[in-house]
Order: sequence, then C-alpha cells, then structure tokens
Amino acid sequence: MAEKIKCLIIGSGPAGYTAAIYASRAGLQPIMYQGGQPGGQLTTTTEVDNFPGYPKGVDGPTMMQDLENQAKRFGTDVRFGLATKVDFTSQPKKVWIDDQTELEADAVIIATGASAKWLGLEGETTFNGLGVSACAVCDGFFYRNQVVAVVGAGDTAAEEASYLANLCTEVHMIVRRNEMRASLIMQERVKNNPKIHIHWNSETEEILGDANGVTGIRIKNRETNATEEIALTGFFVAIGHQPNTSIFKGQLDMDAQEYLITEKGSARTNIPGVFACGDVQDSIYRQAVTAAGSGCMAALDAERWLASNHLH
Ligand code: NDP
Repeated sequence: MAEKIKCLIIGSGPAGYTAAIYASRAGLQPIMYQGGQPGGQLTTTTEVDNFPGYPKGVDGPTMMQDLENQAKRFGTDVRFGLATKVDFTSQPKKVWIDDQTELEADAVIIATGASAKWLGLEGETTFNGLGVSACAVCDGFFYRNQVVAVVGAGDTAAEEASYLANLCTEVHMIVRRNEMRASLIMQERVKNNPKIHIHWNSETEEILGDANGVTGIRIKNRETNATEEIALTGFFVAIGHQPNTSIFKGQLDMDAQEYLITEKGSARTNIPGVFACGDVQDSIYRQAVTAAGSGCMAALDAERWLASNHLH
C-alpha cells in the first residue's frame, strides 16, 4: 500500500528546506526525502558569507542544520531516502524511494539540485577516494603539505585552488583555454598566489597512480601538443555541475543542459501539481539565496494549486 502524502518535497538544499518551511506553515504537512546528500551542496562548503542574516558568515553544514531545524519546527517530516523513480502521468503522482517504498503525492516539489561534473577519465573512477575528488573543502585536509591539482577555471575552481593553497605546498591549476571564466576578483586571487601555478591551454590526459592512489598526472598543451608529467597526490575536478534530473526524463520538460523548465515567474513545471525550485531549474544564478527564494515560490504555488483543485 502506497503512503498518501499531500505535499512531497524531494531534496534537502536551501530550496527544499525553504519550500518545507513555507509548506508546513501553510498546513500542507510536507514530507521531505533528503536525497543522497542530505543538506545538499552547501554541506561541502566552509564559509558562506553571502546569505543574508548571517553578518559574521556561517559554515555550510551549520546553515543547513539551521534550515532543517526551522523546517522541523513547523512540523516537516524529514526522512532519509533517495527518489529513484516517478510516474507523474496520474493524479495523485507516484514516487518511489530507494527503489522500493511507493508514495502517492497530491503535489510534488522537486529540489534535487545539481551534482559535480567529471572529466570522463578512467582514473577518476579508479582513484575516487584515493586521490581524486570533486570537493576541496571536503577532502583537502587529507592533502596537507602535499602537491595537488585543480581542473577548471570558473569560480569554483578558483575558490578550491585558493583553499588548497592554504593547506598544500603547491597547487597546479589546469585551465583548458588561455583565459578563465572566474570572476575577476577570484582570478586575481589565484594569479597572485605564489603557491598556485596555472597551466594555460592544458588538458589532463591521464591520472597516474598505483595501488596506494594517485601519484601524478599527465597534461597536454592544446596549442603545442607538448605533454608534461606532474608528480602529485591530489586531483580535484571543479568543472561545473549537472542538474539531478535523470529520473524525470520523458516526463518533465528540460532544456539542452537537462535543467528543468519552469514557467516564467513561477515554480510550475509542464505537469500540473509538480513544481521545481533551486539549482535543478536554475543554470544561471545557482546561489543559496536564489534557491531559497525559489523554494518559497514552489511552496506558495503548490498551496495555491492544491487549494484550487480542492485538495487542501
Ligand atoms: P562554471 O560552469 O562557471 O565553470 C566551469 C569551468 O570548468 C570553466 O572554466 C570550464 O572551462 C571548465 N570546464 C568545463 N568542462 C571542462 C573539461 N571537460 N575540461 C576542462 N575544463 C572544463 O562552473 P563553476 O562550478 O565554477 O561555477 C558555477 C556557478 O557558481 C557560476 O555562476 C559561478 O560564478 C558560481 N560560483 C560562485 C562562487 C562565489 O561567488 N563565491 C563560488 C563558486 C561558484 P571553459 O571556461 O573553457 O568553459
């Protein structure tokens, strides 16, 4: 027998928790399934200085715990579990958790966020957890006083390189073009850091290693085709994110990058009663505060939709 739910929230980043706060205060008795990374991407961040209301800054895990506590205070039922399948063709909508538990929800709020992208090199799998990482803040500690590399040239890569430079003896930044995408202030920070060596026009050909983990990388200059081996123990990939939308394929409208499409000025997807908020539908801003704002929109839209369909 499937459990019947009025308002199901999938995902537990700033968008999911904000939706939960609004939905629970509106009496929608929301149930949240947290997903594979409870608290979302911010749990892998140290300092968050740009979320309003924290004048002294806050570390990511603390902020997410605060949001969870706030959602629970109004009665949100927060549960572990990953949504693995959905069927939005019927009303109520059907959602499966961890391939077994079946739920029936009148309204569904999707806040599944986005995940780190990988280069597609064999070594990323072979050495995952043995020198390869997509999160400097999570794993940098293990590479104190060692040599590491960061791939990418956006704000994340620049931030991770600066972070690692505080811990490591040397940081090699592998940049595929002759310019960076990161904001000017972040570019200046990495360029002026004597511990960070930028390899322009370069791509990683291979991650080298043995049974103990990563021992180096081979990079190739894309202009000259010259290759170079760098001895190091940590390899951090920071090349952007992929929205977590695979279970919605064929049911919800997505753009070319597979971000969910919401109706302008709303959280409505193409299926009535299914709403999306946060990074899963935002390839532009991707900030905690914009995610939280869109979570509020999703809960208000869900409440109005439930009321207009006499489901609340
Ligand atoms: P971005 O999409 O901005 O940047 C991705 C970077 O990875 C680009 O430099 C890109 O290169 C490079 N890249 C992509 N694919 C490959 C590949 N296969 N091989 C090598 N390099 C590759 O992602 P970010 O995660 O850096 O940032 C996402 C958003 O979050 C941005 O809007 C950013 O401003 C924001 N952000 C803000 C922060 C802050 O304000 N403190 C901190 C972190 C992120 P190319 O440039 O050649 O395309």
